[in-house]
Amino acid sequence: LPVIGILGGGQLARMLALAAAPLGVRCSVVDGSADACAGQLAPLRVADWRDLASLEQFAAAVDVVTFDFENVPAATAEWLRQRVPVHPSPEALAVAQDRISEKMLFRAIGLDTPAFAAVSTRSELDAAVARIGVPSILKTRRLGYDGKGQFRLRSATDVDAAWAALGAQATPHGLVLEAFVPFTRELSVLAVRGRDGEFRTWPLTQNWHHQGILALSCAPATVAPELAALALHKAQALAEKLDYVGVFALELFEHAGHLLGNEMAPRVHNSGHWTIEGAVTSQFENHVRAVLGLPLGATTLRAPSVMFNWIDALPEPVTGALALSDVHWHDYGKDPRPGRKVGHATIACADSVQLLARAQALAQALGREPQLAPALPVLHAG
Ligand code: ATP
Ligand code: MG
Ligand code: MG
Repeated sequence: LPVIGILGGGQLARMLALAAAPLGVRCSVVDGSADACAGQLAPLRVADWRDLASLEQFAAAVDVVTFDFENVPAATAEWLRQRVPVHPSPEALAVAQDRISEKMLFRAIGLDTPAFAAVSTRSELDAAVARIGVPSILKTRRLGYDGKGQFRLRSATDVDAAWAALGAQATPHGLVLEAFVPFTRELSVLAVRGRDGEFRTWPLTQNWHHQGILALSCAPATVAPELAALALHKAQALAEKLDYVGVFALELFEHAGHLLGNEMAPRVHNSGHWTIEGAVTSQFENHVRAVLGLPLGATTLRAPSVMFNWIDALPEPVTGALALSDVHWHDYGKDPRPGRKVGHATIACADSVQLLARAQALAQALGREPQLAPALPVLHAG
């Protein structure tokens, strides 16, 4: 049986292992924590991925290496590549690890980004605020996720607070100040590229965040067809420029009829979880296929879908959710913790009127109406 080695043992690795099993593929996971949730479903090696000697056995026992976590040090990815194929490549990983190189890449393929400026000192922050203005967002260039490592400046008087919050992280990797985009929609393109260059995208997804963390996704997004086509085209240009292999997500803002690139994730992505039930082939299965050089599965829609993310703790009562048809429950087996993604639920339903009714019934059964509320206009229009 082929074995995929996964760096990082969170829910993404867990769902990769679930998708790999029916293909006769096994997964083996490395994580720094003994209770990484993928370890419930796949062999888990507890190691520090900066400690290369501790990865020697892992590298020898797998056929290909991939990631559940994009912040694996570039040196580790490079060291592994000397021993075993690594997909996506260490180069693609490196670009996506730095918000500035990511934005330069977007611009190189003709995808606009919010105005931005690199910041590594307090005086550079003052100059950046003078140039970009407020509202704006100061972000760490590296290692941020789920809105962590960000500070929103609402007025010029917030500069002191922003520097107090993030100034300590200004060296050695730096910060970036971005113009705040009053977007009409947040969209993501989920895409996959095979080892042979075959490229596919799933239908565009619309996302709603709460306090910087993804709260809800709907697919397909209801956007102008030209805009959807453009988004998919930009994802393809990005994949080709990086000679990318595997699944990735391109996060976009729609503003005044234009698309702006926010960031990319060089891995399977939370906004693509709906593809497990809502698409012919899920993002997880296609990532497995891509990194092993197998033919890709169809990415076409099976049914319009709504995905609720469960943050902090799983909602109760679960049986209330399971009693509803077309609800698919995913418990990651993680202990509750503030701000932690512990599970999700997807409703996939061919009839858009029923989809809305079921999403409302699920939200009501779990007391999550506020989580669904921002998406109601879109679901009503669908
Ligand atoms: P992820 O978990 O997606 O990796 P992250 O911590 O890398 O998140 P971003 O995607 O940069 O963070 O930001 C999180 C959310 O904050 C975005 O999805 C968006 O809702 C909001 N946001 C970020 N940057 C901007 C911006 N320039 N203008 C408006 N909203 C923004
Ligand atoms: Mg990110
Ligand atoms: Mg993001």
